[in-house]
Amino acid sequence: MSGPAAETKMQFLYALRSKGVTDARVLGAMEEIDRGAFVRGLFSERAYEDMPLPIACGQTISQPSVVGIMTKALQVTPRDKVLEVGTGSGYQAAILSRLARRVYTVERHARLVREARELFDRLGLVNITAVIADGSHGLAEQAPFDRIIVTAAAEDPPGPLLAQLKIGGIMVVPVGQSDTVQTLIRVRRTATGFDYEEIRPVRFVPLLEGLGKDG
Ligand code: SAH
Repeated sequence: MSGPAAETKMQFLYALRSKGVTDARVLGAMEEIDRGAFVRGLFSERAYEDMPLPIACGQTISQPSVVGIMTKALQVTPRDKVLEVGTGSGYQAAILSRLARRVYTVERHARLVREARELFDRLGLVNITAVIADGSHGLAEQAPFDRIIVTAAAEDPPGPLLAQLKIGGIMVVPVGQSDTVQTLIRVRRTATGFDYEEIRPVRFVPLLEGLGKDG
């Protein structure tokens, strides 16, 4: 795969920095992972613009600056086992795979999981496992996690996900009604409970129950 021209890539990284993605490790991962590989057809030429784009199953690949800000907020370390809820295109999981030891990503649409697995194989991202499941229940068989990132909006942080976070662990999740502006929050699990911190307004597709009907 060729990837973008050097100038396109520089502009992509410059736009990320100017929108607050200042962490060197996060920028390095976003430089390494070609967003163009995760966007198909008509929209692929817009892959390096800072906007969400349509993917299969009526879903969207998030805006790169939002991916960067969420990844930065997650404070991933190389020892971490990370859970992502909402695989979508696989782009966020691919970036996490460069920063963490192990990434589990859960998606309710089987087709998106199949396509993401193919991409991870093709790109040699061997530390990602993509699972077809309703991620609002987490992934009990791999719990607990050091970090959890939810890339669909819930009304509140789902209880099973809070329960699957290690003490000292961090979860980043957009919360709020799906048809209004939501707030990205960071939850830290302490020895005695949970600390909540608001990061910024965001807009995500809703976290839905059950599996998608795409087969
Ligand atoms: N992180 C993605 C973008 C996610 S869009 C990327 O980098 O491209 C949100 C995704 O969450 C959609 O694909 C949607 O199908 C999925 N989703 C919504 N509710 C879910 C649930 N309960 N369990 C798993 N995935 C869910």
